[in-house]
Amino acid sequence: MTTGTTGIESLRKRFQGKILTPSDVGYDDARAIWNAMVDKHPAIIARCAGVQDVVRAVNFARDNGLVLAVRGAGHHVAGNSLCDDGLVVDLSGMRAVTVDAGARRAVAEAGATLADFDAATLAHGLATPVGINSTTGIAGLTLGGGFGWLSRKYGMTVDNLESAEVVTAKGEVVHADARDHADLFWALRGGSGNFGVVTKFEFRLHEIRPNLLSGLIVYPLAEAKSVLKQYRDFAARAPEELSVWTVLRQAPPLPFLPADAHGTGVIILALLYAGDPAKGEELITPLRTFGTPVGEHVGVQPFVAWQQAFDPLLTPGARNYWKSHNFTSLADGLFDVMIEYAGRLPSPQCEIFIAAIGGATKRPAPSATAYPHRAAEFVMNVHGRWTDPADDDRCIAWSREYFKASAPFASQGAYLNFMTADEVDRVRAAYGPNYDRLAQVKRKYDPENLFHTNWNVKPA
Ligand SMILES: Cc1cc2nc3c(=O)[nH]c(=O)nc-3n(C[C@H](O)[C@H](O)[C@H](O)COP(=O)(O)OP(=O)(O)OC[C@H]3O[C@@H](n4cnc5c(N)ncnc54)[C@H](O)[C@@H]3O)c2cc1C
Repeated sequence: MTTGTTGIESLRKRFQGKILTPSDVGYDDARAIWNAMVDKHPAIIARCAGVQDVVRAVNFARDNGLVLAVRGAGHHVAGNSLCDDGLVVDLSGMRAVTVDAGARRAVAEAGATLADFDAATLAHGLATPVGINSTTGIAGLTLGGGFGWLSRKYGMTVDNLESAEVVTAKGEVVHADARDHADLFWALRGGSGNFGVVTKFEFRLHEIRPNLLSGLIVYPLAEAKSVLKQYRDFAARAPEELSVWTVLRQAPPLPFLPADAHGTGVIILALLYAGDPAKGEELITPLRTFGTPVGEHVGVQPFVAWQQAFDPLLTPGARNYWKSHNFTSLADGLFDVMIEYAGRLPSPQCEIFIAAIGGATKRPAPSATAYPHRAAEFVMNVHGRWTDPADDDRCIAWSREYFKASAPFASQGAYLNFMTADEVDRVRAAYGPNYDRLAQVKRKYDPENLFHTNWNVKPA
């Protein structure tokens, strides 16, 4: 840090939001993010109230030679939204979402969570694909690609981005869309935080029924091989409205599961049908005959509730270490490895899940947006999660070993939004064939690499 107290005080005076330094009340809360493994101490947290605050913070960091980090909702497992010593542009105070129902457009400020976004759009019977945990930030999710229950029908989150407002490294506010700063707009759709601070995202929306068929069907882990094989065949024929994901973990104490099943190994089929629930009921009938269910909780419920159904399992404050792979197909050998590692979970909160994407996410060409993984049918996340720091080594080792054992069955690439802090060697694979083009755009908008606390693309 090269700036002194006088400089910070002058920034504080000009700032509409809040400037927090280590001696300020609220500093420790402001530097806490979703993954408790991340314990960084920025010199300045600039909690912005609007775009002009973002300009002030970016100019201040650049002019004082400070490391700069940008925080949306602070959910990324790698903790790139914080830095040690430097300045954090904290957008968590900018959460407004406005909807133009007639035009089917929503504009979200960059600190909005998925809950903020869904609340605003679903009130109009409109939605766009976002993730499955409502406290996740719209900003980081979108900049890395973004997928959720509606992606098979409507594509990745980036495929629904219409425009963005960006504060560049020079401190200029630019509007990027398919015509204006088209190179920047392309790069933002999967290029992470490399190109500036996005202050607003404009999305295209789609009509959606308020109540949809969704829920869980749970089988014992002992039946997992057979369930997974049947799941693979089922997924290959499923229409784009239907998304079924699988989760291998210990059964949580859910009321619809018998008490003696709590804590035992299970495979969970989690499903959403984004169309007429009666048609969905017909389609999911085979899922109920994959084995002998431990329990089932499937029904028609508000989509907004389903978007928050997994929040209790994903609360902030736990220790997390993730590993992920993309798959174009699911091999029998993969199932064996999944079952072996699910049989020795190092903590009751650890899980292995496979998200089904495919469908509309595959239609754009790999070069259409910076997000390139258009062949992926499935994304697997090894979700190492625990509470006690004494378990760090054990849980991290389990995640790494499983990642390695499952690698022979994976396709190329990596999903940026699931990468852990020590996966710098996967950055090129995450940007795939688009890396060199991203490096050109980076040279134009951020030649000095001011925005480098992220999955960094070096200026060409
Ligand atoms: C519990 C949980 C569930 C998840 N589920 C899904 C899911 O279903 N689907 C999915 O696709 N992903 C999912 N993710 C991954 C998620 O997309 C990423 O963690 C994402 O980065 C979170 O966004 P954020 O704004 O909260 O993150 P942050 O940690 O705040 O930011 C992530 C990165 O983006 C940069 N950044 C953030 N905001 C801006 C901005 N305005 N301008 C420029 N750069 C910025 C940051 O600097 C950082 O490098 C999940 C994550 C968690 C923790």
